[in-house]
Amino acid sequence: MIVAVDGPVAAGKGTLARLLAKHFGLAYLDTGSLYRAVASKVLRTGAAPEQAAQSLDAADLAAPDLRAEAVGQMASKVAAIPAVRAALLDYQRSFARNPPGAVLDGRDIGTVVCPWAEVKLFVTASPERRANRRYLELRAKGDNVSEADVLADLIARDARDSARDVAPLKPALDAHLLDTTDLAIEAAFEAARAKVAERL
Ligand code: C5P
Repeated sequence: MIVAVDGPVAAGKGTLARLLAKHFGLAYLDTGSLYRAVASKVLRTGAAPEQAAQSLDAADLAAPDLRAEAVGQMASKVAAIPAVRAALLDYQRSFARNPPGAVLDGRDIGTVVCPWAEVKLFVTASPERRANRRYLELRAKGDNVSEADVLADLIARDARDSARDVAPLKPALDAHLLDTTDLAIEAAFEAARAKVAERL
């Protein structure tokens, strides 16, 4: 059983994917963290993005700045490079194929990484709602950001992710759309759980 959870920045896909994995006893992979690890390595060492992607190790995946906004922006730049995406593909596919299966969240899981996934969800919410959620998260961590800056960054990153030539952010033709603008996490989880349960 493979569940693909794709969508734009801060749509709630990570939370949903984690809850689904726990509920159905599947492994969970946050594929954005791979692109973030490449970005962080490029920023830290000045390595070429392709080389950084080909030599990722456990320490890179645990880099302390992985969740920083600047790393997210750089991640969406390195993610547009075909050689970077190619270097990360096998790892994602073999993770997904490991029994009993997995939930993967990202941008291209249902379209490129696992087009054969049994269930594909495309999670969205209005840019304002997503920016507000991300803003509250960052403030809770003590980050002194403005909501307007968070919104501008999120729009820029989504635009870059949607416009790139390789594996752009878009729903697979057979994806179920889940708009969480007016949904609490419990209701979003229930809708997603029902879609997976239908396929079991
Ligand atoms: O999901 P997250 O915000 O951590 O992802 C960081 C960046 O990594 C995204 O903006 C996107 O450019 C890239 N990404 C991708 N394909 C994926 C997951 C993430 O291109 N499957």
